[in-house]
Amino acid sequence: MNFDDTPDEARFRAEARAWIQAHAPHHLKAELELAGFGQPPLRSGDVIAESRAWQKKKAEAGWACLHWPVEYGGRGASPIERVIWQQEEGVYGKLAGVFIIGQGMIAPTLMAYAAEPHKRRYLPPLASGEEIWCQLFSEPGAGSDLAGLRTRAERDGDDWVINGQKIWTSGAQHSRFGMILTRTDPTVAKHDGLTMFFFDMASPGVEVRPIKQVNGQSGFNEVYFTNLRVPDHQRLGAAGQGWRVSLTTLMNERLSIGAGMPTGFPELLDWACEFDTGDGPVIDRPEVRSKLATWAVRTSGLKYTAWRSMSALSKGQTPGPENSIGKLVAGSTLQEIAQFALDLQGPAGVLQDESQTEASSRFQAMLLRSPATRIEGGTDEILRNIIAERVLGLPADLRADRGIPFNQVPTRAG
Ligand SMILES: Cc1cc2nc3c(=O)[nH]c(=O)nc-3n(C[C@H](O)[C@H](O)[C@H](O)COP(=O)(O)OP(=O)(O)OC[C@H]3O[C@@H](n4cnc5c(N)ncnc54)[C@H](O)[C@@H]3O)c2cc1C
Repeated sequence: MNFDDTPDEARFRAEARAWIQAHAPHHLKAELELAGFGQPPLRSGDVIAESRAWQKKKAEAGWACLHWPVEYGGRGASPIERVIWQQEEGVYGKLAGVFIIGQGMIAPTLMAYAAEPHKRRYLPPLASGEEIWCQLFSEPGAGSDLAGLRTRAERDGDDWVINGQKIWTSGAQHSRFGMILTRTDPTVAKHDGLTMFFFDMASPGVEVRPIKQVNGQSGFNEVYFTNLRVPDHQRLGAAGQGWRVSLTTLMNERLSIGAGMPTGFPELLDWACEFDTGDGPVIDRPEVRSKLATWAVRTSGLKYTAWRSMSALSKGQTPGPENSIGKLVAGSTLQEIAQFALDLQGPAGVLQDESQTEASSRFQAMLLRSPATRIEGGTDEILRNIIAERVLGLPADLRADRGIPFNQVPTRAG
């Protein structure tokens, strides 16, 4: 296989590079380079405002959501052009964090299930960053066992009335719209009684409570619903088909997280060439070179696996269970690399102040963020189950509630 640019691709790359050079927020470059993983907390400005400004510029010039159809705010670009753009956008791509859920997961679901007028109304402002979306799936008692969720939606005339609670909703406090998975029929087996909707987050009956995290940020929220009314035309897919709709979101979620997820390897390689403990750069040590070689091979594998998925997407195929591999491998690699870098730093590894530590705190930030990457979008254990059952064809996990009407599944309370 030849990975060099074709003449057309080279032209596209040159055009993208020139535009980025002329328009990128260069004043943020140094800070973004040092940022670990997740939404970078900018010292020099409000990250949401900066992210929106960059996204708007891209959209106006036709560089937002490149692979989407033009009528929905994209450019109709090929998967390889999308990869070239990502390579050229480099660190400025870190400003896309706040849009990942909307653009990477919700938009493909809207494209597959929303009515055409809704697609034309909601997708362009999602692409331009004007309207942020959040995904309301997890509940206190339903994370890995998502189909066990209890938030109810009941039909009332042309509306549905939603009551219940979601948790770990990333970016809900910045979101204009939400996509929610609800239980509409508790008398059938748990996967069969679910329905998906989207709604305006400013509607009466929606209360967002940010969760304060150990790193001081509030990346996610609790969201409470009290008699939220959602019109039936904002249902995605048929009533009772919400599980099938959610699989479109979840497959794209794993693809988005896995493909876009830094592993920390390029940062580690650069740093190992520079960091000197007194006996020369650490890259000269055999044990460091051996680790670097292992991670170089692994991250190349990740890159080409992601490319394979993109090329499947370009042929109109839905991302399949094999996408779970990218997220599973990238998540644990990020954590291993961050831990290894901190061990090499010795006592400096405990410092988080970027003015004092050689590593400029990026590995510290990576280490703090990395456990979350192994949970969000499906935990490592759940991804292994999916790979075992749906890729390798191994026997399924025992499921005691299989086929039992949801309201008859024994609970601790019942
Ligand atoms: C950073 C971050 C952002 C998130 N953003 C969102 C969001 O925007 N919207 C949203 O809806 N949710 C979001 N989530 C929630 C996320 O989807 C859930 O945390 C995740 O699915 C795990 O669910 P849980 O936390 O309830 O853990 P549980 O399901 O209670 O799992 C606890 C432990 O048990 C293990 N386990 C559970 N079942 C099995 C099994 N069958 N076999 C083997 N092991 C098992 C798990 O692997 C885990 O180690 C986010 C989470 C994180 C960390």
